[in-house]
Amino acid sequence: MKTFALIGNPNCGKTTLFNALTGSAAHVGNWPGVTVDKREGVCKKGSEHINIVDLPGIYSLSPYTPEEVISRNYILDGNPYGVINIIDATNLERNLYLTTQLLEMDVPVIVALNMMDEVEKAGDKVDAKAIELALGVPVVPVSAINGTGIKELVRRAAAMPRERKGKTVLEQALGAKIDGAKKFFEAEEVSSPLFHAIKLLENDELELGRKGAKETFEKLSGGEDFEAVIADERYKYISQNLSVAKTKTKKEKLTKSDKIDRVLTHRVFAIPIFIAILFAVFHVTFSEDFLYIGAWAGLGKGLPALDDLNISDGMKTFVGIFYDGAVFSPGVILFNAFDTLFGTIIDAVGGAIGTEWLSGLVADGVLGGLFAVLGFLPQILMLFMWFSVLEDSGYMARIAFVLDRIFRRFGLSGRSFMPMIMGFGCSVPAMVNTRTLADENERVATVRVIPFFSCGAKLPILTAIAGGIVQHFGVGNADLITYGMYLLGIVAAVVSVLIMRNTTMKGEVPPFIMELPAYHWPRFKNLTLHLWDKTKHFVKKAFTIIFASTVIIWLFSHLSPSWHYLDDSRMNESILAQLGMFIQPLFTPLGFGSQIGAFGWVFAVAAVTGLVAKENVIATFGTLGACLIAMGANVGGVTSGALLADEEGITSAIAMMQATGITIPALISFIAFNMTTIPCFAACATARAELPKGKFIWTVLFWVAASYIVGAAVYTIGSWWWTSFVWVAATALAVTLIVLNNKGKLKLRKNKKHSEVTA
Ligand code: GDP
Ligand code: MG
Repeated sequence: MKTFALIGNPNCGKTTLFNALTGSAAHVGNWPGVTVDKREGVCKKGSEHINIVDLPGIYSLSPYTPEEVISRNYILDGNPYGVINIIDATNLERNLYLTTQLLEMDVPVIVALNMMDEVEKAGDKVDAKAIELALGVPVVPVSAINGTGIKELVRRAAAMPRERKGKTVLEQALGAKIDGAKKFFEAEEVSSPLFHAIKLLENDELELGRKGAKETFEKLSGGEDFEAVIADERYKYISQNLSVAKTKTKKEKLTKSDKIDRVLTHRVFAIPIFIAILFAVFHVTFSEDFLYIGAWAGLGKGLPALDDLNISDGMKTFVGIFYDGAVFSPGVILFNAFDTLFGTIIDAVGGAIGTEWLSGLVADGVLGGLFAVLGFLPQILMLFMWFSVLEDSGYMARIAFVLDRIFRRFGLSGRSFMPMIMGFGCSVPAMVNTRTLADENERVATVRVIPFFSCGAKLPILTAIAGGIVQHFGVGNADLITYGMYLLGIVAAVVSVLIMRNTTMKGEVPPFIMELPAYHWPRFKNLTLHLWDKTKHFVKKAFTIIFASTVIIWLFSHLSPSWHYLDDSRMNESILAQLGMFIQPLFTPLGFGSQIGAFGWVFAVAAVTGLVAKENVIATFGTLGACLIAMGANVGGVTSGALLADEEGITSAIAMMQATGITIPALISFIAFNMTTIPCFAACATARAELPKGKFIWTVLFWVAASYIVGAAVYTIGSWWWTSFVWVAATALAVTLIVLNNKGKLKLRKNKKHSEVTA
């Protein structure tokens, strides 16, 4: 089968085209840099089946970012049959810049002229034939999103001859020099000598690394670097020969996008607007008082609580999904609906199984744990949906740009914003996305703090414990606690980055250059594909890792060290309890160690099971809660029936609070610890793969230290307010040491230039 590499600038519709060609459902985002690794698929359009490899989006083939290197090496060494160069027809000049470089390689190239629907909508015209004539390779107009022109693209791609000699547009300006360099590469017998020759003249570090290349370069150039001249020549060629292909029929005027940007990227209002939007997103997803209707009503007589309504019990169950003294937000309503459904299933299954231990294993161990996790699916999906909408519309790209100004003060570029935001969904894709960062140290720092952006799987910990605190202690407001914990994670991330960028992870932030995509309405198909992808991932995880972990936890909590079955009432003698008690003292400075007594080991166990998957933390509560009751722990009247009907984990959390007498600061510290500690297995594996050699082990230590410090700070300050002075003093000392240390080093490097980069 012929293999074609798909290559193009970020955000030109590459993934959309890939999906259209292969019928797959890869994530499409209105954001440069969503595809960061190569991905393969088979295209069955047309008579001949071809293989497609989707490469990361890049602006050039210079090795500035890991993505550029991936794409360049694949074309040079991966031996594809040909390259499909996708270009955005609404942005011809910039996109053709990459094309002029591709043409220099000895590989067949076909150009897919994408976004033709946009061009038509704007009333413009792009002449594909004229471009084809100028470039000397096939050019096919397509619209990846509507699927037009795709068949023709495949047909012409498959019909290309296997051989093609590289050609350059730099002939006139630099012909002699290029020939000189080309001779060197021809003698070395490397493929695509023309491409390598031109890169060498650009002072490309990959080429200079070759034996004898440096001398050749110096002989040809006298040490002068042609990078700028070459870039200039490429653009000159494009504007002289190719821009004629585009005719504008309408006069230029302020586009709708520009008008929207006047407000959304306003110098002063941009950030308040962004915070308001984020708040709205969280409110719609998590609030138990939608639009604060309950609070407003409270100014008058207030709305009646659910229990005070004069309706039948069956009706109450139904109304309770939507209302209890206040109207629930759509996210909470969805959650409640699932909750009610799962509760019914568990009851039915538990009742249907006669054998006691089996019914315990199935209903508490397996179903309890499973549903505790699945119950959160609606809210996680909803959060994801809002993020997708913001991303697909083009808003996130603006925010990155606006935030760049602020991020720079902390030693990051606006680019690192995207991986961080993705971290709210899942750390795994977020860490992979850091490949768009050019500075290696910036990358390391970003990967390390990504887990602090509380992911979907940590959400259950937040909501269950926040809900438990509100109900059990009768204080606070669950969505404020949740929102506050998200903020705590963000603050921890900012502080960590600041420290790292001033100590071990120094580096200059490269200037932030990004094409701002035009705003458009989020596409329903993109959204559904994206959500479906998440659902699959989440459900799969629930039925594999979490399923296995809950069964193991259940078994270990019902087996004695001599492998005898223990019923629920003797769980304190189980293997799990012994292990938990052994490590429990470790958590004493964090408030959930020795001070919470004999049943306190459940918190230690939950923290450890969270290392497998964060969903396990609450699943563990669910599994162990029932046993606590059987053991006769004082759980404040929580019944096993109530536990069975409680898939959100709030009741189990309350049972834990009752049995251990844990304090509010210790509970908050428990959440904070879980948010900042070593992430799940999957995220660790990703971090290991993405980080440079030797950095992973330090990263794990960093996570351990960070969670310990954050947890201890939260616990001690929450318990004894005056300890805040100690923490402030310690921080001041640390900052002073860092500053002094840097000053000393700065003197040594005084003549090294420090450029103030502005976006
Ligand atoms: P990539 O970064 O190159 O992979 O680009 P994506 O496939 O993620 O697409 C970027 C944005 O362009 C998305 O919002 C797509 O919906 C949109 N897009 C892609 N192809 C087309 C097209 O042919 N026409 C229009 N109007 N929009 C498109
Ligand atoms: Mg993509």
